[in-house]
Amino acid sequence: MKYLIRHNGLNQPNGRAHIVVGTDTACHQWSTGGMNRKRNWKISDKTKGMRVCKMCQTNYKKTLVPDDDLIPDIEWSEIELAHRVAQLL
Ligand SMILES: [Zn+2]
Repeated sequence: MKYLIRHNGLNQPNGRAHIVVGTDTACHQWSTGGMNRKRNWKISDKTKGMRVCKMCQTNYKKTLVPDDDLIPDIEWSEIELAHRVAQLL
């Protein structure tokens, strides 16, 4: 399980931990622009003490189908790439 967590200016986790699914967060806020991509987002294997986003939890449970392994694991580099592309647009 990987989480996308916003960090503040002091590089400390700040806010909700969002579950990463594919190239998006389970709550879809990443792809729909609900999250400011210019902020300091980081991927972590741990929630770093942050509460997990409610919408992410609900949506993630729906993705837990038997074909679970069809959902590719994402590496941070992919999110970072999406981040950079978004900045170019
Ligand atoms: Zn979320």
